[in-house]
Amino acid sequence: MVWSDFWGYWNWLYKHASARAYYYQVLTEEESVQIEMFEVSNCQLLGCPGCRYHAMKYIIDHKPKFTTGKEYWKYEFDFHNAVNQTKQNPSMVLTMEEAEESFKNRMMDRGVGIDEMEKTFLFQDFWNVLLFACTYFTITPDAPKEMEQDILKRFLFSACYTLPFNRYICNDNRMARYHLIDFLQTNMNVSTQEKAMITVTNMYNVLALEFNQPIRTYAENKAIFDLHANDGKNYPLFVRAQEVHAEDQLKLIALQKELHGKLHEKKNNDTINTVTNDTYWQNVSIALSIVLGFVLLLNLLYLVKMVWKFKWKFNKHIENHTNVNGSSSV
Ligand SMILES: Cc1cc2nc3c(=O)[nH]c(=O)nc-3n(C[C@H](O)[C@H](O)[C@H](O)COP(=O)(O)OP(=O)(O)OC[C@H]3O[C@@H](n4cnc5c(N)ncnc54)[C@H](O)[C@@H]3O)c2cc1C
Repeated sequence: MVWSDFWGYWNWLYKHASARAYYYQVLTEEESVQIEMFEVSNCQLLGCPGCRYHAMKYIIDHKPKFTTGKEYWKYEFDFHNAVNQTKQNPSMVLTMEEAEESFKNRMMDRGVGIDEMEKTFLFQDFWNVLLFACTYFTITPDAPKEMEQDILKRFLFSACYTLPFNRYICNDNRMARYHLIDFLQTNMNVSTQEKAMITVTNMYNVLALEFNQPIRTYAENKAIFDLHANDGKNYPLFVRAQEVHAEDQLKLIALQKELHGKLHEKKNNDTINTVTNDTYWQNVSIALSIVLGFVLLLNLLYLVKMVWKFKWKFNKHIENHTNVNGSSSV
């Protein structure tokens, strides 16, 4: 088993189930925007640098913007196949029928029908996706950077619309998602890794009573997550992945600096080019003005010459006429 095998499995299950929950729906603008935000932030928080890179590239090339649940469902199917293909095992690329069958079986194993996503509150895999993101969003767990916090906030907020049971109707006739949103709007705290995990625990607790479940303490919730993520088999992978994540972040910062330097250099070159271009066009304008002025002068001279010639001929004519008349009168 490799590192991506266990978080990848949860993540795909979450995404397919999320899309299935909307399968028969026309999406509202709000849902469409939040689903897109989830897709982007989820890719930014995936558990391996290579996966993040490929996934981000995929969603740049295939914008996750949907108007219906069926489009969302099909998108996840195509996305999953695209990743299967990069793993260079063509037998893992499924037809839509096979994918539906596989999804149906995994739901059946957990006692839920393919179109009963509102019953999935107790699926630990889904909560694990959120908890995993909390353990993974920063390389400095006690003091996450603002940028890291922003990504996690976007992710948790959009999870209110993508958790597969988000459309469950609660006792007050509101969808479960709105209880989560109300909670996050006033209580979301991701200023440390632990506080982020407490936020997710409380998201669970906000809905627990609606689903007739006891609430969990943070310690209980973390213990359940650890059992899935950090058991004896996975723990070394988990630690190594954190290290890779840290190394990756440092490389990213170095790349950003390099890019910034190059952009700065380019900006300077652009300024020099602009100045050079300006001087060039100024010279061209002056030259053209001189040529134009010269042509105008020639025209003017020609005009003067013509007027003068005409005047001379006219005078001559008058003179001749006067002479003829004068001699005839004599
Ligand atoms: C967004 C994302 C990007 C990832 N990128 C990479 C990467 O670049 N490199 C890498 O090594 N790993 C990547 N992973 C992890 C990888 O996709 C697998 O999750 C992981 O390798 C475990 O594989 P698995 O064989 O257990 O089955 P998974 O691929 O996790 O699939 C679980 C189950 O889904 C079903 N399934 C398979 N294909 C489809 C489909 N098209 N539609 C619906 N259901 C399907 C199958 O029945 C399968 O048993 C990524 C995961 C995610 C969520």
